Amino acid sequence: MKIVSIGEVLWDVIRDKEHLGGAPFNFAAHARRLGHEVLFVSAVGCDERGDRVLESMAQMGLSTRFVRRAEGHPTGIASVTLDATGQPGFRIERPAAYDFPELTPTDLEELLSPAPDWIYFGTLLQMSRQAREVTGKLLGAKSGARRFYDINLRPSCYEPHLVRDLMLQATVVKLNDEEVPMVDRMCGLSHSDPEEFCRDYAGELGWEAVCVTRGAEGCVLLVGDEVINAPGYGVTAVDTVGAGDAFAAAFLHGLGSGWPAGQVADFANRVGALVTSRPGATPSWTMDDIKTLGK
Ligand code: ADP
Repeated sequence: MKIVSIGEVLWDVIRDKEHLGGAPFNFAAHARRLGHEVLFVSAVGCDERGDRVLESMAQMGLSTRFVRRAEGHPTGIASVTLDATGQPGFRIERPAAYDFPELTPTDLEELLSPAPDWIYFGTLLQMSRQAREVTGKLLGAKSGARRFYDINLRPSCYEPHLVRDLMLQATVVKLNDEEVPMVDRMCGLSHSDPEEFCRDYAGELGWEAVCVTRGAEGCVLLVGDEVINAPGYGVTAVDTVGAGDAFAAAFLHGLGSGWPAGQVADFANRVGALVTSRPGATPSWTMDDIKTLGK
């Protein structure tokens, strides 16, 4: 499949180490590992961290064609702290280079023809006016691409009207169980369980699928009229950074392959669990690792 991912790429500074991250970047890396053509739209600074982003992307087999170098803005960083259970907390330094992506008419033409199967976007990037405009060009092009919105709320990086607007533009949505009440509050609603949440929002907003991830508990997935509650896999969590992004790539992979809901949810849970059991947001893994997980 041809997948366009637009969003932030940044260095997660965990303890004294730097790991490449940013949800849309992590998603792109995992989607590439799943064998897809992934076009990542972003920006890095004219600095050493920016050089290292581009080198890492090349090593991962990701095209850097649509990652511009934004003069006068540093490559993004987030300081990550991990609590006793491995749950991450983030401090994101902005504005950063990724807040200033640009697409020329030629770039747009290249991204949109042949039409992508999917356009992936999140919330954080859309707080930047320039990035919002660029995303608007992609989503406004009526390419027929399915639109995957990974809600991913980070402190100070969302506004209710923005999230509501992005939900309206999506055809497939992913969020975690902590975000369910946050989204409900933004919409003046309340749901006691994720199944009901999925049914109501998908029905109201016309989503073809929606998934609520539940950490070690797995996920609740709605595809069409079917709702699946899929248990997670027991792994020793090393750090959960990137688990949701890997899950998103696997979720999209399953949906795009036309698998039944149960298979999509199980596959995505496997990929999420495997990434949780390895350090960093984009550890390497193979299809064999996924198949043999839990055996
Ligand atoms: P996010 O990282 O977006 O907050 P979650 O923490 O819900 O999302 O994790 C996404 C998915 O990764 C889960 O639905 C599950 O499949 C997998 N996962 C996350 N944490 C664990 C864990 N401790 N054990 C097993 N699987 C996990």
